[in-house]
Amino acid sequence: MTRVPSATVGRLVTYFRIVSAYDTQGKTHITSSDLANETGVTAFLVRKDLNHLKDPDHPVAASEATTSKASAATNYLGTRGAGYDVKQLKERLWERLGLTTPWGVAIVGMGRLGRAIADYPSLIEYNFVVRAGFDVDAAAASNISKVTVYPMEELAAIVHRERITIAFLTVPADAAQGVAEQLAEAGVRGILNFTPAVLDPPDGVHVESVDFMAGLKRLSYFLHAPGTTDEPASSG
Ligand code: NAD
Repeated sequence: MTRVPSATVGRLVTYFRIVSAYDTQGKTHITSSDLANETGVTAFLVRKDLNHLKDPDHPVAASEATTSKASAATNYLGTRGAGYDVKQLKERLWERLGLTTPWGVAIVGMGRLGRAIADYPSLIEYNFVVRAGFDVDAAAASNISKVTVYPMEELAAIVHRERITIAFLTVPADAAQGVAEQLAEAGVRGILNFTPAVLDPPDGVHVESVDFMAGLKRLSYFLHAPGTTDEPASSG
């Protein structure tokens, strides 16, 4: 399978969200222009991105094949003009994003954020199965979450037993790097870093950072900076 550039992966995730919304609304087709308008990129880039869904290991199914007459004007998932079949595109994106297989997840740091994430129902819809929580104060955290919380001393054994591949990191920032290294040693391959710490990814571990405070800071900029189009009307 060819490697997809990181920026393209980010856009594939956005396309998946849009296509899912179309599906929920009962729409059967979506054009590259629709996707371009929703994401703020060009239709050309959308089509280029979606070419990454072609997988030599999994040839296009017969139902996706096109007539020879139409083939010249046809992308592999859709016909120019008619657009992409929403359900097929959604399924291909789901597969390409690796969501077909359940991922074993652990949450490390069962404080306010860790507990909120543990109880978030949509994780399972995307095949992310929270199998354990960990905390230096496991006894305290256990009383307030549905997820079983283990002490950090049991990290390696539980990661192995529960086949945990991904960890959500919700510890204080100053503990983040050390915990990331413990996770790597235990065999975790992906870390979703919620802390503000800039992590040095341990060997063999992919780190993705999420930060809603960054969104708030951008909002603050647009609401306060003079001369931006998003500036609110003068308060007089
Ligand atoms: P919290 O203090 O409520 O919880 C932190 C938990 O981590 C505690 O239960 C603590 O016992 C545990 N802990 C401390 N050191 C540990 C270690 N070495 N190993 C395992 N567990 C350890 O904090 P919170 O409000 O839940 O925030 C957690 C983290 O998430 C912080 O770094 C915070 O800055 C960050 N945060 C990020 C976002 C975001 O948008 N990404 C939003 C809110 C908070």
